[in-house]
Amino acid sequence: MKHTRAVFASTAAIFALALTGCPPEPEHVHQWGAWVQTTAPTCTEAGVETRTCALDATHTETRDIAALGHNYGNWTVTTPATYTADGIETRTCSHDATYKETRPIPQLFYTAVSATNLETWLTNQPDNTAETPYIVKLNVSELGGSSDTAGSAGYVLKANNNTKYVSLDLSGSTITSIGNSAFSYCISLTSITIPDDVTSIGNSAFDHCYGLASVTIGTGVTSIGNNAFFSCNNLTAIDVNPSNTAYSSTDGVLYNKNKTALIQYPAGKTESAFIIPNGITSIGIYAFFSSGLISVTIPNGVTSIGDAVFYNCYSLASITIPNSVTSIGGQTFDRCASLASVTFQGTIPADNFGYDSYGNYWGSPFNGDLQAKFYATDSANGTPGTYTTTAPVSDSSVWTKQ
Ligand SMILES: [Zn+2]
Ligand SMILES: [Zn+2]
Repeated sequence: MKHTRAVFASTAAIFALALTGCPPEPEHVHQWGAWVQTTAPTCTEAGVETRTCALDATHTETRDIAALGHNYGNWTVTTPATYTADGIETRTCSHDATYKETRPIPQLFYTAVSATNLETWLTNQPDNTAETPYIVKLNVSELGGSSDTAGSAGYVLKANNNTKYVSLDLSGSTITSIGNSAFSYCISLTSITIPDDVTSIGNSAFDHCYGLASVTIGTGVTSIGNNAFFSCNNLTAIDVNPSNTAYSSTDGVLYNKNKTALIQYPAGKTESAFIIPNGITSIGIYAFFSSGLISVTIPNGVTSIGDAVFYNCYSLASITIPNSVTSIGGQTFDRCASLASVTFQGTIPADNFGYDSYGNYWGSPFNGDLQAKFYATDSANGTPGTYTTTAPVSDSSVWTKQ
């Protein structure tokens, strides 16, 4: 034990001698100066800053300065848009003008002064899509007759069906009416603005305008013909100027001014449920034609539901006919392929079931044998209650009274 300790002591002595034999440089606490930028940062590259020790200038430290990033100013127009081409606007980085961003300015509108002018211009434009229609201001004194007449605006648009989509603004026109079928089957018409001087919109004026998404009606329209917007399956809004004295709109739905008549629910609206406002007493012909609504609430107070009002409402699942209803027109719920439950809260005279306003029988308001089942017990007035079918189809459902 004693021997071992002696060996350890002599090893420690040799080690101590090695350390003191070549003494280290005396250290100091660095006295750092201020950070000084030695490489400037750019928009995209970090810079460098350095500090130096006051006691020994060979002692330095460095660290990064964060890149500046871009500081873009306002967009300025560098190439104005025209009616044939997009324009360009540009913005420049305030740190480094070599950094620029550009973006297109949408093409402007074209002003046509006649149907022929519109046709010539459209012919020279490339095809487009419904999402990027040509904005055309049509400034004319007449539309040129029915849509089947060469030289009319409707004819021009029809001739370009599916290839040249047009948003038409008639605000600069001096026309006072839009004739019957004026734009019928103009499926490339995406929207239309009807000026304040127009007082009438004819029957079927826009029927089957499958591309028509919005209609703006000015102050002057006092008459809208039957089926004016029939089968406009992509129509989402009919907006009436609030100063119009004959018509009104709420959420794109067309009513008469005092909201006693619902005239047109745009078929392209995407809501699944609609509550007809209180105060409505009548629902016009084809008002909900082809809408995708699943649920429609008819308020008590409605007395008549017109012809084909819900025709082809393919998603409509059930309906309640309030006690106040005294007539239902022909084919009103025809082609409602999902309709599985109908509740009659009151009776309806058989003479008012399936007839139009001229007394002509249009056909049963409901598909299948619901008319027969409703009048099976009381042939004059029908029997209130809920009728259901387990296999709704578009035209041959078999109904059972619950
Ligand atoms: Zn130092
Ligand atoms: Zn920059």
